[in-house]
Amino acid sequence: IKIAILKETAEHERRVAMVPVVTARFSKLGANLAIQSGAGLAADFADVDYSGVALVEDAGALVADADVVLAVQAPTVEVIAAMKPGAVLASFVYADKQPDVLRQLRDGRISAFAMETVPRISRAQSMDALSSQAALAGYYAPLLGAVQLPRILPMMTTAVGSLRAAHVLVMGLGVAGLQALATAHRLGAVTEGYDVRPETREQAQSVGAKFVDTGIDARGEGGYARELTADEQAKVRDVLTRHVQQADMIITTANVPGRKAPRLIDNAQIQGMKPGSVIVDLAADSGGNCEGTIPGQTARVGRVHILAPFNVPSLLAQQASELYAKNLLNLLELIVKDGALALDLDDAVVAGTLLTHGGEIRNEKAKAHFE
Ligand code: NAD
Repeated sequence: IKIAILKETAEHERRVAMVPVVTARFSKLGANLAIQSGAGLAADFADVDYSGVALVEDAGALVADADVVLAVQAPTVEVIAAMKPGAVLASFVYADKQPDVLRQLRDGRISAFAMETVPRISRAQSMDALSSQAALAGYYAPLLGAVQLPRILPMMTTAVGSLRAAHVLVMGLGVAGLQALATAHRLGAVTEGYDVRPETREQAQSVGAKFVDTGIDARGEGGYARELTADEQAKVRDVLTRHVQQADMIITTANVPGRKAPRLIDNAQIQGMKPGSVIVDLAADSGGNCEGTIPGQTARVGRVHILAPFNVPSLLAQQASELYAKNLLNLLELIVKDGALALDLDDAVVAGTLLTHGGEIRNEKAKAHFE
């Protein structure tokens, strides 16, 4: 079985789908590996670091005889068109944003595994790329905010008096939010967390944070949140304003699958925040959680900075790539048997993740959106 690893071409993308320390484990699958020259450079892996892996200059030539193509972002339509019918692609796809890519995957008879759709079940945890990447982004958010703040996070006693600890509020306590709380706590901040799923109370407390209770229960499908009604939003706003305005740093991470990110903070609330305080909006890729957010930029509302970087995992490209490569490896261990592809379409993880196969769109949501 031949496995090809592409160099990423999307803007803001520094990750790579294979890192040198993982190549030996891929070879154990009975695979021959080939990588596009320079694929690891943006993550600080040189071609020579990938020992035992063939180097190919051109993406089309690389994928033309591959049984499995690995990438972080979906390849271009042209590269997919160069793949063999029946070959496997594993990458993030986000098909609803890329109908041309979806069409080419279907028409090219590619078995495409969309990494953003790995089911959130225990057995699939080792393949859950959304979680591995969100954990890193969550860790990084308080650091990004800390260097923008005109103050320190921990309490400090000095000869001229004590500085009090900063207050950090994290809104949205999924994988990223809990890591953000843990990091802010380790840096010495006083932390508070808020989410619309009540089970996050204990999770927040377990990383040293107080839970802000708005009395809302918005548990939706599959362990995710649902959208709030207008009444619920108004109620939340009332409870949260005081916490927003006490915070020195706010990190927002709220997402509802398939929707634009929910608006958690409006400009009037931001105007009431302390001068110099900072918001790090981790939902920039899906539009942002604050009224004043400009995705991909640092905005100012009054005297508050709102950081909204795109693709935060990519800023930690080395380890984000390592975790992602391991997620891919675990997926391949499920679909490669005795050195050959063996897709069990009845397996819940395969069925849940397979976007296209045998000339058909298999993911019902993607199909409905496409038609
Ligand atoms: P996500 O990125 O979809 O959303 C981030 C957080 O935002 C979620 O906690 C969500 O509840 C919250 N949110 C949405 N709307 C909000 C609003 N209006 N106000 C405040 N918060 C709001 O979440 P995620 O990190 O991908 O995790 C989603 C769920 O999947 C969680 O329950 C997580 O524990 C679960 N999960 C399970 C597994 C597993 O069992 N294998 C793995 C990973 C995650």
